[in-house]
Amino acid sequence: MLIENDLKLDFKDVLIRPKRSTLPSRREVDINRTFKFLHSGREWSGFPLIAANMDVTGTLAMARALNRHTALTALHKHYDVDRLVSFFRESETANVFFTMGTTEADYEKFQAVKQQVAIDKVCLDVANGYTEKFVLWIRRIRDENPDIVIMAGNVVTGDMTEALLLAGADIIKVGIGPGSVCTTRNMTGVGYPQLSAIIECADAAHGLKGQVCADGGCTVPGDICKAYGGGADFVMLGGMLAGHDECDGDIVYQERDGQQVPVAMTFYGMSSDTAMRKYSGGVAAYRASEGKTVKIPYRGPVENTMQDIMGGIRSMMTYIGAIRLKEVAKRTTFVRVTSQLNTVFGG
Ligand code: 5GP
Repeated sequence: MLIENDLKLDFKDVLIRPKRSTLPSRREVDINRTFKFLHSGREWSGFPLIAANMDVTGTLAMARALNRHTALTALHKHYDVDRLVSFFRESETANVFFTMGTTEADYEKFQAVKQQVAIDKVCLDVANGYTEKFVLWIRRIRDENPDIVIMAGNVVTGDMTEALLLAGADIIKVGIGPGSVCTTRNMTGVGYPQLSAIIECADAAHGLKGQVCADGGCTVPGDICKAYGGGADFVMLGGMLAGHDECDGDIVYQERDGQQVPVAMTFYGMSSDTAMRKYSGGVAAYRASEGKTVKIPYRGPVENTMQDIMGGIRSMMTYIGAIRLKEVAKRTTFVRVTSQLNTVFGG
């Protein structure tokens, strides 16, 4: 047994220190970025925010809504081939990831869609990106699809970030346990404070000219700002985008003034009982659920939330004098606001 004594931080443990700036207004800042990807050689420009590939948020309606801001959506895995083909035939699909797990059935579906329409980005998603099987899977998908952008994860350490990049991924998804409906830390004791994971994985990825996507744990726009400040190239959101018109999921109605109005929507983890009942006939005997089901207040169109998020990021950029999103990490100084004792013991 070993103990690591280095300081590890979550979003709540820091604030971003303001810096002198010559920027007159938040309207002057640019929240878009351009990336050239390591293996596929493709270029992408846009607002580097991604809706999570969860049933509730990774929807076609979400993809259409976020595309208006050139933000991305990782579609969930449960659309059938016909639905995906007709969607990918639309013009608004430049900012969409096709999501796959690691089964042959996933790959066959991908091939079936790809034979009919162009797909340029895939998200290879597993809960635990540390297995040899996953490394081999990435290598196979890369060998057979040299020009597709591959985002793969999840991991939380620099060594595995490098391993997945060297296996053929362009973008590494970072986060084990921080998700709003994730119970991995409670069920297994495994995890890594998310801001430190982002900082360490981004450092490893950037050394190899790869990118990272910070996945999970953002609850307010300020957390997204801290993720970019820590070096995240992309930020993925589940809970913050749940509860909107563009989501799938049950709606809870309440009677007000004689009318039924929506007040809440369900949101659940992809390894929750809810998801496992829906897709695999229940939780298998050898595994426990590592996700939960919650009710999120109904929040109307996602456009409102996107305006809040973009407003928060623009304002952060004026506070630290960053005219482009690319400059944010360089101009970020984090101030610790919790002591390590408080962090560990939750005081
Ligand atoms: P959020 O933005 O809600 O904090 O986190 C979203 C992320 O949580 C997802 O992108 C995914 O990585 C993770 N996640 C989603 N469902 C589950 C689950 O059931 N269990 C675990 N451990 N993580 C989940």
